[in-house]
Amino acid sequence: MSYIPVRPDPSLPPVTVNLYSDTQTRPTPAMLDAMKSAETGDEQHGDDPTVWALCDRMAALLGKEAAVFLPSGTMCNVVALLVHCRPGDEVLAHRLAHIITSEHGNHAALGGIMMNPLDGERGLFDVAAVEAALRPRSRYAPPQKLLEVEQTANLGGGVVWPQAQLDAVLARGHEAGLATHMDGARLMNAVVAAGIPAAEMVAGCDSVWVDFTKGLGAPLGAVLAGSTEFISEAWRWKQRLGGSMRQGGVSAAACLYALDHNIDRLAGDHTNARTLARGLAQLEGMKVEQPDTNLVFFDPRGAGLTAEAFATAMRQQGVMVSTLAGRVRACTHLDVSAAQIELALTAARAVVAAA
Ligand SMILES: *Cc1c(COP(=O)(O)O)cnc(C)c1O
Repeated sequence: MSYIPVRPDPSLPPVTVNLYSDTQTRPTPAMLDAMKSAETGDEQHGDDPTVWALCDRMAALLGKEAAVFLPSGTMCNVVALLVHCRPGDEVLAHRLAHIITSEHGNHAALGGIMMNPLDGERGLFDVAAVEAALRPRSRYAPPQKLLEVEQTANLGGGVVWPQAQLDAVLARGHEAGLATHMDGARLMNAVVAAGIPAAEMVAGCDSVWVDFTKGLGAPLGAVLAGSTEFISEAWRWKQRLGGSMRQGGVSAAACLYALDHNIDRLAGDHTNARTLARGLAQLEGMKVEQPDTNLVFFDPRGAGLTAEAFATAMRQQGVMVSTLAGRVRACTHLDVSAAQIELALTAARAVVAAA
């Protein structure tokens, strides 16, 4: 097999509704204008005022001392794990966590870090699951260093952690001497859905990052936040891994634009997701998970199609969805309107009727 991504197939009809991922958004003309007029400098030399402005703003938003701009969320996760852990150390995370399922084993390849996968409904786990995974401190057991949570839990179904459960789990981690890290790829979706300020939501996390290329609609970048000491160490790995940038302000300007314009509008994506879920649930045999945010997971097997067959048939109708963990995922975002949700539902009805 080849690991090279597949180019678009020109024989397929054009995509009219792109529910594949919230990473598929294109920068709007206004965002591109903000990027064009950004003040820039050499980011790795500390000379880019727009990158500094973004980091300061994110540290304040997340209630942490400092922040660092990185090219991607994956780099935020691996940098954080590399700062928190040494080779042989163990991380507690949900079995479906992105750091376990979707980063090509970076933590093990680069840091010799082990994963202890926890179970729990919809990508979440509870204090009992943490306690069951805790090992005695001994010369035999791998040293446990970090507890990781994902907000929202992507493969769990875009699920928002009930705040009391999140706080309890993180507190239990601290009590056991573990540091805590949040993969906040879609943290702002959780913030908007729960109506809880970001800093309050992540108060129990020693490190946390937010992706700007998901619902926030920027073309590039993520910001990792934590204590000044943590961010100082994160800079060593940013440099080592080639994540130090030059005129990063061009990208940071898009992120700042997203903070100003693309957070409140996430509520509309959540409404669109609920509309889509309601419409899909009306199809005979379709098993739809009630969405908390912008991700709609469903299992079409009861309607006579595997997840892959459903996705392929939808693509023939111009609607792009993804298949993940044996289900179909449809993702709403700023390039999907309420009218396009209706188009997607029309296509789904036709696909199911033909099955
Ligand atoms: C997308 C995603 C990541 C990785 O972010 P990239 O910016 O694509 O590298 C990490 N965790 C979760 C939960 C994600 O959805």
